[in-house]
Amino acid sequence: METKFEMEQKEKILDIIAQRDEYEKQIFDLKQLLEISKSLNTTLDYSILIDSILYIIMGQMKVLKAALYAKKGIESSRFYLHRNCKGFDIDHNHDYSIADNAPAMRLFAKETRAWSPEQIKTRLEGYGGLEPLLRLDPCLIVPMKAKGIINGLILVGDPILSSDFSDYDRDYIFNIAILASTAINNAFLFEMTTTDMMTKLRMKHYFVSALSEKMEESAFTDNPLSVIMCDIDHFKLFNDQYGHSCGDEVLKMVAKLIQSQTRANDVAARYGGEEFCIMLPGTGIKTANIIAERIRQKVEKMKLAYENKSLNVTLSLGLAQYDPDKDLSPKALIDRADKAMYLSKQHGRNRVSTF
Ligand code: GH3
Ligand code: MG
Ligand code: MG
Repeated sequence: METKFEMEQKEKILDIIAQRDEYEKQIFDLKQLLEISKSLNTTLDYSILIDSILYIIMGQMKVLKAALYAKKGIESSRFYLHRNCKGFDIDHNHDYSIADNAPAMRLFAKETRAWSPEQIKTRLEGYGGLEPLLRLDPCLIVPMKAKGIINGLILVGDPILSSDFSDYDRDYIFNIAILASTAINNAFLFEMTTTDMMTKLRMKHYFVSALSEKMEESAFTDNPLSVIMCDIDHFKLFNDQYGHSCGDEVLKMVAKLIQSQTRANDVAARYGGEEFCIMLPGTGIKTANIIAERIRQKVEKMKLAYENKSLNVTLSLGLAQYDPDKDLSPKALIDRADKAMYLSKQHGRNRVSTF
């Protein structure tokens, strides 16, 4: 038989052990947050960053579903479900977007914490404009706020190991959202300052620095790398005959077509006025030629309606594959693609040439 004293001592020891375990968990979680912060600060690539945020949430919160809402550009007044969404069933015919001035968004700006749909309903006597998002049936909605402004929402599905999230879990996910929102803000600003607003393609300086990185990688791994230079034929005529805004429309259409023909790892840029440059990592000259020829044909077939007129546009293209012995700088490789493009011009335009 334990004495009363012994029982009290035992209880105290168990309390101390429980408290110690609690502190150890908190220290572990804080260390995790530091690691998360470090990993989120290593990339400015929007798409990779969103993937990292979602995988971190899934791992830390032990859920199978996570999604992120973000704006599509500076002028955007809506938040869109990002395509990197994990685990949620998406109906592609449904518009999931949310207005940035929806009552729920105003509530989030005032009280930034993890919300369950029921809490929002109680507070707003309704879902305050979040209805399109609730089709996904999230367990928690976590606003992301950077510099006082909501720049996104994180959606989390049901926890695997318990029926609901504890207050501790909710605080923890909210802390992850704070780190994520700063990283998203930085990536967003970076994307804005390196993107040409008219064509939505990357600018020259971004292209050159991305090419420099890929050249280094290619020299190291022996993976092929090719560059396509494109120039719109007789572009000045569109400006001269129909005005500058017609020229701008032609630029936008060609840019959109080029973007549609490139993969996620490729980089398409507006290199100059009516010149576009495409970098194709992992692609040798033969495949690059097929891609360039496809772009040429699609542009040739493209019908651009402008003020009741149907305009025909053609491109001259030039190709070069990275050669570590010849191309000591990105400029050297781009110059070779450019020289090939001029060969296309000399030989009658609307064609592809290889350096
Ligand atoms: P080529 O077939 O030899 O390439 O002839 P081109 O007329 O396309 O070439 P050129 O270099 O003579 O003319 C390019 C024109 O592109 C001149 C410039 O005014 C126009 N341009 C450059 N940037 C823009 C822009 O942002 N919008 C519009 N509308 N025009 C632009
Ligand atoms: Mg030109
Ligand atoms: Mg031109």
